[in-house]
Amino acid sequence: MGRSIGVLATRYIWVGMVEGTSLGTVRMYPEPGQGEIDLRSVPADEIIAKILEQVDALHAGEPVESVGAGFPGIVRNGVVDDSPNLAQLKGLDIHGRLCAALRASGIDAPVTVLNDADALAAGIAATRGGLEKLVRVWYLGDGIGFGRYPHNEGVGEGGHTVVTLDPKERFCGCGGEGHLEGIMGNRAMRLRFLDMEPEEVFAAAHRGEARAVDFVRLWHRALAAATATNVHLDGPGRFYIAGPNCDFVDLGLLNRYLQDMVKMSPLQGSFFEVVSTSQDLALIGAAVSSRVRQ
Ligand SMILES: [Zn+2]
Repeated sequence: MGRSIGVLATRYIWVGMVEGTSLGTVRMYPEPGQGEIDLRSVPADEIIAKILEQVDALHAGEPVESVGAGFPGIVRNGVVDDSPNLAQLKGLDIHGRLCAALRASGIDAPVTVLNDADALAAGIAATRGGLEKLVRVWYLGDGIGFGRYPHNEGVGEGGHTVVTLDPKERFCGCGGEGHLEGIMGNRAMRLRFLDMEPEEVFAAAHRGEARAVDFVRLWHRALAAATATNVHLDGPGRFYIAGPNCDFVDLGLLNRYLQDMVKMSPLQGSFFEVVSTSQDLALIGAAVSSRVRQ
């Protein structure tokens, strides 16, 4: 059984030991009780150093077969080409930097770097889908991630799918007009409702306040639209929903909107399923991906 380390850098840094497809000890930065630290304000060098610190504490001299690390943004050939939600990583040869840091610390194991949502899709495939099936997952948080397993050569920035032609829709963190993340992401929701937090918007919709009700419909229609686009390109199937904002999802409404948007009979039959514990699954997926890629 392989013994690999999974790393995930999103809102926090998570590092976990994965044996087979089971997650063992997990460490995180900042540690519980250390207070809030916004990873977006932590320089790239320090992020690498913190990852190494957690890996060192985790493996404690035991041999490690491989290390897999998930980061938000476009990750290709070991380099973060762009990352609107961790902008300091843009252009960073994260694979080279991690390999060097790990080697200096006595871990001479192969390293794989991948998009965090792809890591999540791989984790879902490894633990519940069976590795042969197509797994697609939306991650709903500050940004909107889209993950796919098996990984393909595509860019995979499904969170920036254009879902509206309204030129006023420009709240996306990347600056693009009409994007899914510009409607669904936390940052975008705060820019739209300047005086309300995302959870307050959903609570207001629950009470029937018209502006919030309209927005919550738009929020669901946007996710249905991006999913419908993906169905039309990549075929029907199961779409997982993960991340802190999956609690806001009304699956009935979402499925109805999706049915309205996909009418060709061979493409029907897609559906949504919510998965919790997404960081655990992403750690497993990152670790498992680091093995199959060798
Ligand atoms: Zn965008």
